Formats: sequence, structure tokens, C-alpha cells
Amino acid sequence: QTIGDCFDDTVARFAERDALISRHQGLRYSWKALQQAVDEAARALLALGVDKGERVGIWSPNCAEWTITQFATAKIGAILVNINPSYRTHELEYALKQSGASTLVLQGAFKTSDYVATLAELAPELRDGAPGTFSSAKLPELKRVVCLDADRALTGMLTWPQMLTHADEVSAEHLADVQASLQFDDPINIQYTSGTTGAPKGATLSHHNILNNGFFVARTMDLSEADRMVIPVPLYHCFGMVMGNLGCVTHGATMIYPGDGFDPEQTLRAVSEEKATTLYGVPTMFIAELEHAEFESFDLSSLRTGIMAGSICPIEVMRKVIDRMNMQDVTICYGMTETSPVSTQTQTDAPLEKRVTTVGTIHPHLEVKLVSPETGAVVARGETGELCTRGYSVMLGYWNNPEATDKAIDKAGWMHTGDLATMDDEGYVAIVGRIKDMIIRGGENIYPREIEDFLYTHPAISDVQVIGVPDEKYGEEVMAWVKLSEGESLSEEELKAFCKGQIAHYKVPRYVKFVDDFPMTVTGKIQKFKMREEATHELG
Ligand code: ATP
Ligand code: MG
Repeated sequence: QTIGDCFDDTVARFAERDALISRHQGLRYSWKALQQAVDEAARALLALGVDKGERVGIWSPNCAEWTITQFATAKIGAILVNINPSYRTHELEYALKQSGASTLVLQGAFKTSDYVATLAELAPELRDGAPGTFSSAKLPELKRVVCLDADRALTGMLTWPQMLTHADEVSAEHLADVQASLQFDDPINIQYTSGTTGAPKGATLSHHNILNNGFFVARTMDLSEADRMVIPVPLYHCFGMVMGNLGCVTHGATMIYPGDGFDPEQTLRAVSEEKATTLYGVPTMFIAELEHAEFESFDLSSLRTGIMAGSICPIEVMRKVIDRMNMQDVTICYGMTETSPVSTQTQTDAPLEKRVTTVGTIHPHLEVKLVSPETGAVVARGETGELCTRGYSVMLGYWNNPEATDKAIDKAGWMHTGDLATMDDEGYVAIVGRIKDMIIRGGENIYPREIEDFLYTHPAISDVQVIGVPDEKYGEEVMAWVKLSEGESLSEEELKAFCKGQIAHYKVPRYVKFVDDFPMTVTGKIQKFKMREEATHELG
């Protein structure tokens, strides 16, 4: 099945139920109304000449039009290119050129990002083109720009309503014919990875890749049309658009966007006012919600399930989410953009210990193995190895980058994730950390996660990240960046004393730095490579 066909099936089954609620925009759509909006946008794109396989970029924080564009492009077979809302000129140019986008849908501005001005820097021709048209010397492939903020649109752009006026030029039958001509394994989406470890890479994904993954993720949580999901994670990322949007669409659940950027209060309010059953987030988001000064005043009793994913999920945070946020059936997912994204997930009926300490078991129809990064041989159960996955979820490849694809996916079809993990006799996988983040101190392999999990048990510590920094004597030394909870105090000596006798001496952080924030991607993922750069610089 294609994404468009699945969407239409859901509309037929749940017509008048809530499909999408975009709270910051004050927009609410039933499935029927959403279908009308999607079909109108799809017909308009066809009228403007967007063909199957053409790349359509979307550059905006979360909003209803994001999702409408997602399903409209899926219906006409155009390849949606997710562009990170925090990109600036240089990164935008890279994404547009790298993907060869013919069309770009963009927001006017958001917080410190001025999307229109940034694009106009690259394509100044937008300022004086005939209405709705321009041609750009620097971005020769870009032919159409649609601005979601009518007040900010430049002459060469179309506004969203102006684009929609073209829908009349294409009949519903023509759209249906185009939709029927698509194949489930056609590329439909280019998603750039988070850029946690360096420059983002564009993973090319098919209908089959992401639609199935959305389905299985949601099935693990027993999602149905009775569920209402709050999605504070960005739509540009697979967490929002696949696990969120496609998870809901495959089961008829309601998509609720609490805001355009992440805000703990907006998120908690959305849960209580919308009587949400399901909540998503990366660990730092759940931490911020739990720490919110008015946490106790929000009614979270409707919550049942949700997902914590994206980076190491600290055990203490998981326990709090279960106990204090009423998310008895919360699950942890592990995956990566390149695998649609989810590979493993905790089952809601697994023993509590497994649910908080592991990332669960492999999803249906997928395979997993752990291999020695040096020899490639499968390691013994319980041993640490590089996690590799195989099956329907593995991307078609990196867009226009066959060398990188060949490096990541081997001849037998295994995706090499760059993550270290262990697996127990029952198949539960635990993530140890990224190969790139492992600390080697005097020949001893140290996994930052172990130290982080231990330090999280200190009541004054709200968030902690451990990295390796260069050291003349040992090669690398352990450094902890610590964020304290409101009103708490803790000295470096006290922290070290807390570790003494509890963890091996070589794991006790040699350096401690107290911080208010960590360098992170917009998805809330902590960029340890930036921490290392900064720390190495400071230590001289
Ligand atoms: P880049 O590849 O650009 O450096 P990235 O790897 O962070 O960025 P994503 O594809 O968004 O980009 O994230 C996938 C990675 O996130 C995984 O490879 C893994 O390192 C980490 N990850 C995801 N889920 C979990 C989890 N539950 N526990 C630990 N780590 C996780
Ligand atoms: Mg990655």
C-alpha cells in the first residue's frame, strides 16, 4: 500500500472523528476535513507542474500545513524533503542543492530564524520576479516557493492560499489516477539525520519503509481511533512525521501539536486540555516536563502510553514517567533515520525492569545482530557489539551518495548503525552508546552511559552528560557536564565523593563542569562532539 491509499482508508473508516489538532494555530480537522485539505493541496501541486519523483522541500516548525504537505506529496508521488527548522543559509543551500528540490514550502519566520530572508539571501531574484515566479542563479533547480506566512511572502513566491487557488485546474479523477500509478517501494521522502555526530546525511525512504514502521510502532502501543497523541517532537524528524503522524494515520488516532517549538508547559497543557492518551518525547523533553514548577497542577490522568526515544533513556527518568506522568504503558524505541526509524521497542507487557533498562526487542519482520566492530563476527550473548539491522525498514540509500550508502549497508543488506549494544538470552537489547562516544582511558573502555545513569541517582542532579577529553597520560579522561535541579547546590568535590567506592576509580569524572544547557540539535539531542570541542578548547 502507498501512504496516500492508507490515508484514504483511514478517512473512510473514521470520517468525522478528530484527525489533527494544531493548538497554536487554533486549527482542528476531522479526517474528512483533513482529506479535503490534503487533496486540494495535492491537486494544486499537480496544477503547478510538480511531477512524480520531484523533490518538494518543507522548511517549517510544526504546523498543520506541514502535515498537509506530507500527505499531499505522498499522493502525487513527489519526494518530500524534510528541512530542519534551525538550518541557516549555508545548511539550507546544502539541503536544497543536495536534494535538487524543485519546490519549497516555507514558514515566514520562527524565533530567531527568518526563513524568508535566509532564502532570499540565496535567491535574491525572489524579490523582483513576476508574481509567483522567479529563476535563481544560485539554486537553478528551484522553480517554486510557497510561503505559509502571507504577510512575509516576496513577489516571486506564492502564498499558501494562492497555491490552493490552482487546485481547480486539476480534477479529482486526475489526482486519483496519479495516486493509483504509484508503487509502494517508490522513494517518497528524504530525511536528513539529526547531525548529532557531524553533518546530516539524507536518507531516502520509500512508502513501504515508513508506512510499515509507523504501523508497527503504533501497534506496539495498542493505538486505536480512541487514542489522542500529543506530538511535541519536530515533524521534520522521523520521530514526528513517521512515529507520530504515520503512527496515528495507520490506526486512526488523533495527532495533536501543542506548539511550534518545544515548550514543557504548552505540552503539559495540551495533554490535560485535550485528554491525551499518548505522549512522545526525547529524554530531555520528559525531564523538562517533570521539572516544570507547576507540574503538579496539570491533570495527566488521561495519559496511558507514549514513546521516549532518540537518545539514551535514563532509567530514573523512565521510572518517573511511569510513576508521576501516569504513563504505565510508556515504551522506549531505538532506531535511526536510516531505518525508518524504529528497530526495537519495549513491549508494554514486558517486566518493568526490562522496560526501563533496555530498548526492548526487535520489531516484527526485522532482524538484528551484534558484531565486533573490528572483526565483523557476531559476538556472544551478553557481550557488547555494533548493532546491525536488516529488513523492510532499511532505507533505499543516502540520496545521491552511493559511497556513503555502501559504507552503511553491507552486501547482505545489513545496516551498520554505529551504535554499541548488548543482547540478553531473551533478545532484549540494551544500548551501550555510540562507537564515536566511547571513552578509552588508559586502555580501559568506558561507556559514558554507565556513569550518567549512576550520577542521575544523585537527587541534586537534573541532567548529566559524560564525554571523553584528550589526556596526555591516559589518552582520554572522563569529564561530566552537570545540570543541577532548581535551587540545588553541589560542588565538584561532593560529586566526586558521591562516586567514590560506588563506581570504579577510573570512571570517576576527572573534570566536572556545571552548566545550564548542553549543545543540542532542535530535536533535543545532545551533540557530544560539540561538548568535546568546547571542553578540549577550554582545557587547552
Ligand atoms: P547523525 O547520524 O547525523 O550523527 P543521529 O544519529 O543522532 O545524527 P538520528 O537518525 O536522528 O540521527 O538518530 C539515530 C541515533 O540516535 C541512533 O543511531 C542512536 O545513536 C540514537 N538513539 C536512538 N534511539 C535511542 C535509544 N532509545 N537509546 C539510545 N540511543 C538512541
Ligand atoms: Mg546517525
